Amino acid sequence: MAHRIDEFDLIRRYFAPLTQGAPGALELRDDAAWLRPGPGMDLVVSTDAVVAGVHFPESIGPADIARRALRVNLSDIAAKGARPHAYTLSLVLPESIGPDWIEAFAAALGQDQQRYGIFLLGGDTSSTPGPLMLNINIFGQTSENKIIKRSGAVVGEDVYVTGNVGDAMLGLASLMDREPIENPGDRSFLEDRFRRPEPRIDVGLALVDIATAAADVSDGLIADLGHICAASQIAATVELDAVPLSDAARRVVTDNQPLRINLLTGGDDYEIVFTAPVSARDSIQSISTKTGVLISPIGATIEKTSGTPDVIVRDGSGNPVEVGVGGYRHFGEIAR
Ligand code: ADP
Ligand code: MG
Repeated sequence: MAHRIDEFDLIRRYFAPLTQGAPGALELRDDAAWLRPGPGMDLVVSTDAVVAGVHFPESIGPADIARRALRVNLSDIAAKGARPHAYTLSLVLPESIGPDWIEAFAAALGQDQQRYGIFLLGGDTSSTPGPLMLNINIFGQTSENKIIKRSGAVVGEDVYVTGNVGDAMLGLASLMDREPIENPGDRSFLEDRFRRPEPRIDVGLALVDIATAAADVSDGLIADLGHICAASQIAATVELDAVPLSDAARRVVTDNQPLRINLLTGGDDYEIVFTAPVSARDSIQSISTKTGVLISPIGATIEKTSGTPDVIVRDGSGNPVEVGVGGYRHFGEIAR
């Protein structure tokens, strides 16, 4: 590529160190890289592209872009009960990006690599007259045939979600000046929840052989539970009052019921929604204790009936709550 930062210099200086000497990366000096899953293991692969101005506001800095791009990919691996291993990185950079930006970006990748025990395996670099875009391919592994699919749920199971729901939606709204959040502590907490998702890797690993189906919450709790329902050919109920909210989110929604319902459809949570048999209740509570991650039962799987939505949200009196088809889109121009 032709770019004012020399591509090879950039790769040598900033990206080669991120391979941490892994032999399969071939020092980022070859046409391809190799990975060898352990004996009896399946390689688990996922990819997510992010575009400035579409998936995150242009105002977000290099370190947060790096972390978010990596973590949204790690979240897919977590939801499948896999252990993350390595990733590749394709960068498409606008001309305005200079070495300082790359340095901060690579430093944040390095920190998150440590945190999640992964390394860089390869990538591609090119330039664009358009917005910044980057794509990560992530590789993880599970024991053979142990991946937690979307399709394994059956009628009569519990539905759970990790962490709190809706923080990232409020954080993004605040970052985009759509939702004024008065309390500065709440504002920075919620914005950080958008900028720095926490992929639930330890929970995912512990759910192997316990969860019957799982998905990560990227499109919104209702939409992603809907994906499990569609793949498993079931329906599900969600009790509105059982959906866990952070203290900050609770203070923002207070008695704004439509906004509270929007939190279920907002997306960007990167939590795990999953199903498990009733007999697993104790195991799931002990996973929560062991990992220190809140895991809340929020509903149940039921028979699918034609003419009703796959996911039925109910209020405290058991009445269905209207959440809109596919969830209300809070931000017109934010595509997913
Ligand atoms: P090709 O000519 O086959 O596209 P490149 O010259 O783009 O190969 O890449 C040379 C080496 O640099 C490869 O090992 C590739 O994986 C690595 N590389 C290029 N860009 C990146 C990047 N953004 N992150 C990590 N590795 C990269
Ligand atoms: Mg190339």
